Amino acid sequence: MTTCSVSRMMCLLVAFAVLVPPAGVRADEPAAPPTNHHFAVELTDSSLIVCTPQLDVPPIKTSFADLRIPLNRVDSLKLDQEAKTVALTLLNGDRLQGECLLEAITVRSLLGELTIPLRYVTVLRSSIKKAPVFEDSPAKKNACINNLRQLDGGKEQWAMATRKSQGDAVDIPGVNQYIRGNRTPVCPAGGSYDYTTIGANPVCNVPGHSLR
Ligand SMILES: [Zn+2]
Repeated sequence: MTTCSVSRMMCLLVAFAVLVPPAGVRADEPAAPPTNHHFAVELTDSSLIVCTPQLDVPPIKTSFADLRIPLNRVDSLKLDQEAKTVALTLLNGDRLQGECLLEAITVRSLLGELTIPLRYVTVLRSSIKKAPVFEDSPAKKNACINNLRQLDGGKEQWAMATRKSQGDAVDIPGVNQYIRGNRTPVCPAGGSYDYTTIGANPVCNVPGHSLR
């Protein structure tokens, strides 16, 4: 990850040559109220940063008007690094395509505030609509509950062997020694497991996948 101090003004220098004028966007439209618009930024090395872009309303120069498009209306922004073009898809399905002169984007992530040169960015994708999708069924639920029983049994055996007591944190590789295959089982519905502490039930994050 490279950061640089490209000035904020440079970030605002966006120009698009619009191929398809968007129906729902007007030049004088005020910014939409702020929403929970988290974005996933994919970099050219395939790494992913979940962030809030610090640029809320990128001014866009098009062939027919200057537009200000609030980022909370943007579904995705794909950059073609070779052709130096950008394709923008709005949440209402409108598409814009053109030339992008944006140098960098400043984002706030768990790593802090970063200024990412756009030459490292391939996609800026809205994660507003992204909730985990589980493909569940009764058979998968039962298989998962079996996994949770194994986890629970493994925790008890590990706690006895290492003289742990109620409320103690678990050592996952240690517990896994007492589980078939010597590793964390896999939830067949795509959930993930939290071993929790000694004396508490392990949990899966798929609704309904629970011991008790
Ligand atoms: Zn599960």
